[in-house]
Formats: sequence, structure tokens, C-alpha cells
Amino acid sequence: MQFMRNRKNKILWSFIYFILLPYWMLKGISILIRAAFRGLKFSMRRRITFNYLILYSIVGLGTYLFMIMGFTVFEINEDNANLYLSVNELLDKYEEGRYNQQELEANMSQVAQLNNCGIQLYFEDQKLTLKSEKFKKYQYPSNLFGNLVVLIGDRLYTDQLKMDYVNMETNQLELVRMHILQPIKAYYKQMTTLSSMLLFCLGVGFLFIWFVGSIINRRILRPIYDMTKTAEKISIRNMEQELDVNEAKYELKDLAITLNTMLTRLRTDYNKQKRFVSDVSHELRTPISIINGYAAMLRRWGKQDEAILDESITAIIGETKSMQVLVENLLTLVRADNQTLKFKEELFDIHELTHEIVEDFKMINNKNQTITCNCQGLLEMKLDYQMTKQMIRIFADNAIKYTPENGTIELFCTQENNECVISIKDSGIGVDAKDLPYIFDRFYRSDESRTRETGGHGLGLSIAKAIVIGQGGRIKVKSKKDEGSEFTVVLPIAPL
Ligand code: ADP
Repeated sequence: MQFMRNRKNKILWSFIYFILLPYWMLKGISILIRAAFRGLKFSMRRRITFNYLILYSIVGLGTYLFMIMGFTVFEINEDNANLYLSVNELLDKYEEGRYNQQELEANMSQVAQLNNCGIQLYFEDQKLTLKSEKFKKYQYPSNLFGNLVVLIGDRLYTDQLKMDYVNMETNQLELVRMHILQPIKAYYKQMTTLSSMLLFCLGVGFLFIWFVGSIINRRILRPIYDMTKTAEKISIRNMEQELDVNEAKYELKDLAITLNTMLTRLRTDYNKQKRFVSDVSHELRTPISIINGYAAMLRRWGKQDEAILDESITAIIGETKSMQVLVENLLTLVRADNQTLKFKEELFDIHELTHEIVEDFKMINNKNQTITCNCQGLLEMKLDYQMTKQMIRIFADNAIKYTPENGTIELFCTQENNECVISIKDSGIGVDAKDLPYIFDRFYRSDESRTRETGGHGLGLSIAKAIVIGQGGRIKVKSKKDEGSEFTVVLPIAPL
């Protein structure tokens, strides 16, 4: 009873020592580490090194335990194999009848004493147990759990080997189980030497990874620090800065290239926006100063002088109309940018519409130009009527504006597959090759058209482009200086 109680206590203490205590210790350490680092801001470099070190420690600790255990088991098995040979020799003599049972037990005790271990022989058939003097009173464990408890509680390593012998009395082959108990303490010296060597190597490896890992991480992540510094310098006033692509490697190079492309796009958009605002202010300044001038004139002399009154009112109305057109055009462009330009689809004959426009222009034309329309039959389309009309008027108006007196303007309209091709050709001044890429830009006017005082704001073609693109079409331009221009618009017959 007393023995059983001692054993229970041992198991309890072993559980506390080897399971609960390490668990509490690890938990405490992790709480302490977390509390210590909570306030600290980990850099990415440190975080990566920290992760390496944690992984290394886990793998290292596992390897350490595995090696220590493996080495100890190997050593004990070596000793047990020698014991087996010695006991087998004794059993051979017992088999031959040279030893009786007492002599076998005494010799076995001697072997056990010499090897500082306990030996038990269990003759299965006879249910006979022989025990060495050492550990005589000890209950040899018979299953895995028992082995484990003995290993943890009593620090004894147990092993079980089988032997055969011929029973002289029955002349039968019988089985003997040999149990061995090895005190672990005897192996402590080798274990300590090995573990200190291993721990030393692990420690050196830990420091090596910490040191070299930090250097490598810093080198790999340097482009990120550089990018951050450059990004800090980039602002609305300093948009020319670019990230250094040559320093970065792998995905960071792709990131730097993508960010640079984004910066270029932003820069272009920002510059466009800036130019747009300055162009709008510029375009509004002239009519406002004209209105201002006439208003001042009205206040001074207009009340008495009827001619001045009349002239001022006409001029003010003209300038306000021009401003109204400008503001409406700007609104159309802003809507096109925001993709809120609404297209009301309706069925109409594009040939009829083109004829109408040509007739209108013929009526107001005072430059003796020949305007022809080559549109035969019926070509029905399902697009926004007003917008399409506005677009054709812009091209026709330009053709008239930029064609000198007695020149020719031809409008041509036909169906090709599922598309309608509208062409506006003139024998006018043409566009210089250097201006051609920019004529669809907002407020762009070639020097030639500026000097001619044709009166536009430079928004016509950008509005026409927005209308064509908004309805799923495309524009082609052919132009030669002093020979003329041809604008070709291709529109789907019905929306895509
Ligand atoms: P504008 O109000 O100046 O006509 P647009 O946007 O309609 O503005 O045209 C932009 C520029 O393209 C014009 O200033 C002119 O230089 C050129 N352009 C447009 N159409 C023609 C044309 N048919 N012949 C010659 N130049 C043209």
C-alpha cells in the first residue's frame, strides 16, 4: 500500500516537473516578451529576423532533444546488447545443466552488479521469475505506460529482450523474457557533454543568423527605405522625383517600376489639369475685360449717347454668348471626363442630317466656297441625334473656317459593314505635321489659326472626340499643310 502511494506521488511530481512547469515557464516567457515588445514598433527588417530566429529556435530545440534522446537510447541499447550476450551465456550453461536455478540467479546478479543495472528473467511456461540482487524489490514494468512512468519518475530506462532455451526436463523449446533496468544517471556525463556541445553550436548558429540575417535583410529591404525617402520628397510642388529602379531587385523592382509609371501618369494628369485651369482663366479674361470696359463706358457716357449705349449692349450680349458657349463646352468636357455625358438614343437618318447641316452652312457662308454633300439614300442610325449633329457641325465649321475663299468642302457619308463612315474633306490650310498630334487636346490651336483670328476656343475637336468615343466610334485625320484636311469619323450604326 505504502509502495503504491509513493508511486502515485512520484507520477504526480513527474507530471508537475516535466509537463506543467515547462508549460507555465513558456507561457510566462511569451507573456513577458509580448509585454516588453508591445510598446516597440518593429521594423520589417527586425520582424523578419525575429521570425527566422523563432523558427531556428524551434527547429534547433527539436533537433537538440532528438539528438540527446537518440544518443542516450543508442548507448543504452549497446550496453543492453552486451548484457544480453552475457545472460545468454549463463542460460546456455543452465540449459546444459551446468548451473542450477540458484547458481543462474547468483551469476545473473553478479553480471547486473558489474553493469550497475537490474536484470529479471521470466520463464513464460513455468511462470518463474529470477531477479538480480540489484533492484530485487523493484516491480519491473510490463507495458509502455509503465515504462514511461518509470523513466520519468525513477529515471530508469527499461528494456525487454526475448531468449529461447531448451528445457532439459521436458526437452521443449521455451521462452524467457529478459527485463533490464538501467539507471539514467549513469549516462548523464555523456549526455551533458553532448548537450553542452550541441547548445554551444545552436547558440553560435543563433548569433550567426541574427547578425548575418540582419545584414542580408537590410540589403534586400534597402530599396524600400529609399523608396519611402523619395516618396516623402514627392509633393505637388516637386513631382519630378522618381524612384530608383536600378537599386531594387525581384518584386521590389516591379513595384518601383509600377510606382514610377503611376507617378508619370499623375504628373501628366496634374499638368493637364493645371494647363486646363490656366487656359480657362485665359479664355474668360478677354470677354470679362471687354464687358467691364463697355460697362464703364456706359456709366460715363452711355446714359446720354444712344450710339454708345447701342454698341455697348451689342458687345456685352456678344461676349456673354461667347462665355455661355465656352462654359457649356467646358461642362460637356467635364461630363465626358466623369463619364456622365448622357447619350439619348433615337432613330434618325444620318444622310438627311448631313444634308441639313450642309444646307445651313451654305446659307451663312460668305466665302464663296463650294460645299457638297455626297450622301445618297437612307442610312438609319440609333444614336444621340443632337450630339451627332453637334459633332458633324464642329468638323464642318472647322473646314469652313480653315478653308480660304473659293475653296471646296466635301461631306461624304456611307455604310461599311455595321458602321457609318462620315468624311469631311476640305482644300484649306491643312495642319502642320508638328501640330497634328495635338489638335484634339483641349484649348489647342495651331499658331496659324491663332494669327488668323478664326475666333474658336480650341475646344471643338476635343468635344467632337468625346462624342465619337462616347458612342463607341473612332476618328482618323489626314492633313497636309496648304493642301487641305480630311477628318473621317466611323460610328456604329447602333450602340455597341
Ligand atoms: P478651334 O476653336 O480653334 O477651331 P478646334 O478644337 O476645333 O478649335 O481645332 C483645334 C485646332 O485644330 C484648330 O485651332 C486648328 O489649328 C486645327 N484644325 C481643326 N480643323 C482644321 C481644319 N479643317 N483645317 C486646318 N486646321 C484645322
